[in-house]
Amino acid sequence: MSENVAPQPGSFQELAQLLMSLDNLLVSCMRCGLCQAVCPVYGSTFREADVTRGKIALLENLAHETIKDPKSVNDRLNRCLLCGSCEVNCPSGVNILEIFIKARSFVAGYLGLGLVKRLIFRHLLPHPRLFNLATRISGFFQKPFLKVANPLVGTHRAPILKMFLGDRHIPSLPKASFSSKRGALNIPAGSSGIKVALFPGCVPDKLFANLSEATLKILRYHGVGIFMPENLVCCGIPSLASGDSQGFLGLTSQNLKALSKQPFDYLVTPCATCAANIKDNWPRFLDKYGEEEKKAVAALVSKTMDITQFLVSALKVEFKPAEPKNDAKKVTFHDSCHLKKSLGVAAQPRAIIQSLPDYRLVEMPEADRCCGNGGSFTLFHYDISKDIGQRKRNNIVSVKPDLVVTGCPACLMQLMDLLSQNNDQIAVKHVVEIYADTLPDQAA
Ligand code: SF4
Ligand code: SF4
Repeated sequence: MSENVAPQPGSFQELAQLLMSLDNLLVSCMRCGLCQAVCPVYGSTFREADVTRGKIALLENLAHETIKDPKSVNDRLNRCLLCGSCEVNCPSGVNILEIFIKARSFVAGYLGLGLVKRLIFRHLLPHPRLFNLATRISGFFQKPFLKVANPLVGTHRAPILKMFLGDRHIPSLPKASFSSKRGALNIPAGSSGIKVALFPGCVPDKLFANLSEATLKILRYHGVGIFMPENLVCCGIPSLASGDSQGFLGLTSQNLKALSKQPFDYLVTPCATCAANIKDNWPRFLDKYGEEEKKAVAALVSKTMDITQFLVSALKVEFKPAEPKNDAKKVTFHDSCHLKKSLGVAAQPRAIIQSLPDYRLVEMPEADRCCGNGGSFTLFHYDISKDIGQRKRNNIVSVKPDLVVTGCPACLMQLMDLLSQNNDQIAVKHVVEIYADTLPDQAA
């Protein structure tokens, strides 16, 4: 990272620069209010302060308001899922997510990071071995804390941890993360002649290790070479969403260094949030990188793909529509915001599902409406998150599926919680899991 060029986030110079760049972005909003109709948070609270237009009104006076009451400004800015629904529907093309990210950086730079966030963002996420060890220890000791909630959904209650987790229904941790089980991977390209960098992402790596295994199985089945360095770290989205741009840049820099060790054709991930973050947010900070890093980030923007997009659009696997069997399971697909709104991927996962005769795809109403997870949003605003999610759950249940499938691990967690809390008997899977199950096992 070019430390001499850019001022440190939180410095007076940096904060002033952020304010100036925000001013330039804000002028394009014409206060039409069309963002109200699509904002899930507004749809739950009906508060103008929660929708983009209300936040933009606050940001026009950001310096003054922050000095007056920084905590309240921080709270208001954080009442947003960063789902992007407002941005894709804004007639003036306002760069809303960039505005929100910069504003959060400004306020976090002014307020400083809290202790817990500092420990996680600066001392856990940048250290993959420590993170894996913490996951393994938590997995080893989790049993006494968990009570089975909904076996079909695969969730547990954690009454003893209510102080931290509320009444959430959660999946249990695997014995070991995917990356600690597999170590570094360097598999040469097979029949496809293509080699990818596999970026599992923290949630598929630590929590849904089966999802990472399914991704690996699919890539190997299609003769794709795989490079996965052992020192990959978090993509940085939790840090960035909390305004910790310094932590975010540190993680980006570590990942760029790890990925520079081998050439590869595409970077592939089963996490839509990671893919969207790499493509949309890593380049937002180009002025903070050195020349080599700038080039690497620019190359990654075009090379980064969600796994379903890679299979259909890059690898050109022919997923021919199949006639569903008589006893085919009814499946409905939830479009995660990062997959559809950020990456523009919606047809590819559906093509995969429709090629599997064991499944019959039925569309739910509002399939692309946000599920309410929003990463850290659900941690700090669980009541609103659940309220938004209940609408998603009602839409799912309305088509009476056997299972709901999605393309983002954060949505997986949210859907599991919602369906389990409603005692619904509907399984929740990532699309690559159901596809991988149809492929023959091979030595991995
Ligand atoms: S952000 Fe876009 S949609 Fe919302 S008020 Fe401004 S111009 Fe209208
Ligand atoms: S990003 Fe999503 S939650 Fe945030 S203001 Fe826009 S529509 Fe609302």
